[in-house]
Amino acid sequence: MQQITVLGATGSIGSSTLDVIARHPNEYEVFALTAHSRVNELAQLCRRHRPRYAVVGTAVDARKLQRLLNGQDCEVLYGEQGLNQVASASEVDTVTAAIVGAAGLAPTLAAIRAGKKVLLANKEALVMSGALFMQAVQEHGATLLPIDSEHNAIFQCLPCNYQEGLPQTGVRRLLLTASGGPFRETTLSELAQVTPEQACAHPNWSMGQKISVDSATMMNKGLELIEACWLFAASPGQVDVVVHPQSIIHSLVDYVDGSVLAQLGNPDMRTPIAHALAWPARIDSGVQPLDLYQLARMDFFEPDLEKFVCLRLAREAAEQGGTAPAVLNAANEVAVAGFLGGQAGFLQIAQIVQRTLEQADICAADSLDCVLDADRQAREIASQWLARMS
Ligand code: NDP
Ligand code: MG
Repeated sequence: MQQITVLGATGSIGSSTLDVIARHPNEYEVFALTAHSRVNELAQLCRRHRPRYAVVGTAVDARKLQRLLNGQDCEVLYGEQGLNQVASASEVDTVTAAIVGAAGLAPTLAAIRAGKKVLLANKEALVMSGALFMQAVQEHGATLLPIDSEHNAIFQCLPCNYQEGLPQTGVRRLLLTASGGPFRETTLSELAQVTPEQACAHPNWSMGQKISVDSATMMNKGLELIEACWLFAASPGQVDVVVHPQSIIHSLVDYVDGSVLAQLGNPDMRTPIAHALAWPARIDSGVQPLDLYQLARMDFFEPDLEKFVCLRLAREAAEQGGTAPAVLNAANEVAVAGFLGGQAGFLQIAQIVQRTLEQADICAADSLDCVLDADRQAREIASQWLARMS
């Protein structure tokens, strides 16, 4: 019986993970569930999945959860310490890292340092501190499996010895597919007026608000480009982005002999989650089989970097290296929150990120303190730009 901690259980990835786990009660048991502010939802999940621990954001919410659980045998913890505890507890085999944003970094690193099998959805953690993160995976013998659908697809298409190096194993390049988001066909001038509601209405995937906005700006693909570089030891030049509106091909690997391997499936996160959970075995995920006759066709386009400036900025940050990706990520988190809160327009997200990258001190990302300082400074600069623009 594998013991599983789900960090970010009340979110979209958290709920897909629990759906897969519940289909295999003889293989997987929920050890801990965590949330931030959605305490009622967490209480419901605790009743259904019976974890030994539950973690919320504050002491006040912890007392509320305890009351809601009404004597159920579940220890309630709170704050970063609580998250770190359930991510690294000796009883735990697998940790799903599905907190959104930089808040997920500390508990994800705690799981890695405890040598766990980590199912990574929280791409922001890896983008911020890629070198340190991958070094910790090596040092502590953790198993890092991507559940971001593109990276999971690439992982499935790579040769098993890919860690020897992409050129050494015959890989020419990685091809990340992108749906293009809800504004693929919206003109630049129309983009100035789009609302958070429109930005969050993704055509193919149902996701949390932050990643939905990232998909609409294509910053999500930029973060994924950086994520791919770290996961697969690729240079930014070895990763191309191709827009594929149907989201059926989740990504591809191009080999030197001309073979191109792709992973296909219906757009449902339970497929990559089930793949990583059971790896190297395969289990039922509850996802409908792919019907190629119904699909009938697939389209491919080059991304429009004039319209989707965030994708260009992310590639530049990847090339620059050091703390540039951490700055990009922090500025984007501030700008997206500003857009969702009505303080900034859609096109100002890219402007805030660009200005912050221009102004922030970029240095080597050789310690966690360095990365956290860069994150803090970028949030300050981005918040000032946000205040100026609103
Ligand atoms: P959601 O917004 O749906 O869920 C986020 C989760 O994180 C919630 O459980 C939330 O708790 C928790 N959380 C938010 N802030 C904090 C904090 N400060 N401290 C601790 N916990 C916090 O996001 P998604 O599930 O969509 O995305 C999660 C991660 O997975 C993101 O990094 C995203 O980029 C990545 N991802 C998501 C995909 C998807 O299909 N959704 C696909 C690929 C990657 P609460 O609900 O209580 O606020
Ligand atoms: Mg993805």
